[in-house]
Amino acid sequence: MHSKAGIPVVNQDQSPVTKALLEAGNKWEESVILNKLKNNAINNVIIPAGEGALHERSHPIETSLEIFSKLKTGDAVYQPTILVSARFYQKYHLSPEICRFSACRPDLIRVVEKERGEICLQVIDVKASEELSSSHRTQATLYALMMKDVLEKSNIDMQVDLNQAGIWLNGKDELFNLNFNMKIIEEFLHYRLPEILQSPLESVPWHVHNRCELCDFYQYCRKEAEESNSVSLVPYLSVSGRKYMREAEWDHKTSINSLSELEAFLDKKEADDILSN
Ligand code: SF4
Repeated sequence: MHSKAGIPVVNQDQSPVTKALLEAGNKWEESVILNKLKNNAINNVIIPAGEGALHERSHPIETSLEIFSKLKTGDAVYQPTILVSARFYQKYHLSPEICRFSACRPDLIRVVEKERGEICLQVIDVKASEELSSSHRTQATLYALMMKDVLEKSNIDMQVDLNQAGIWLNGKDELFNLNFNMKIIEEFLHYRLPEILQSPLESVPWHVHNRCELCDFYQYCRKEAEESNSVSLVPYLSVSGRKYMREAEWDHKTSINSLSELEAFLDKKEADDILSN
């Protein structure tokens, strides 16, 4: 089984809080699909067939390709499934030996008209949050890059909107410019991702923090934090705070990783000054 964002699900355990947050997000998404589309000049939303809850349905890969090839002005497709081709890996020099993108499901792909009446497909993601965040932009940008690959590989005569993508938030819709995000993500895929994936596991920095509870890997990381008695167990320690301790630029660069190292450090008289940095 795979998550929506295309990464493997390793653990289905979720706390009541996480479940409540996810359910609220799903309800919001459904209300958007059912009520809000008309305000966005979308007349025809192609919704996957089925009896279950809307957010649990998706169009299979082949059906999605067929739908993309037939979309016209005023159409949108809800939760198509896309899977990148070998060319996507080659483009960023990613070896399938170390990295695999699983199938993923953008919330909505809609047809937009560009100058001179040409149409293209625009990625829309629906989020039950108040503000647009960098993770929303990253997800929608990645979907746009993946869509481009999928359409080209399948010889579908349709362009992807590589200038803009949309995030529909709780209360407002945001269209954002893809150019800047695309440069960062392509550079990440090309250079940083292979570096991360080929590093020895022990040398990859990590930190379990408050947002981790929504992550599919939470149980795994939490267990590792407990087993290694990590400073990650300190409530509300920020990602940058954890990085500051790990990269220790003081006292012979003695890195602080475990709670016992933190305890010994706090006994030093200069500890307050260092931490206030
Ligand atoms: S550190 Fe947090 S965000 Fe990163 S994989 Fe673990 S649980 Fe997920």
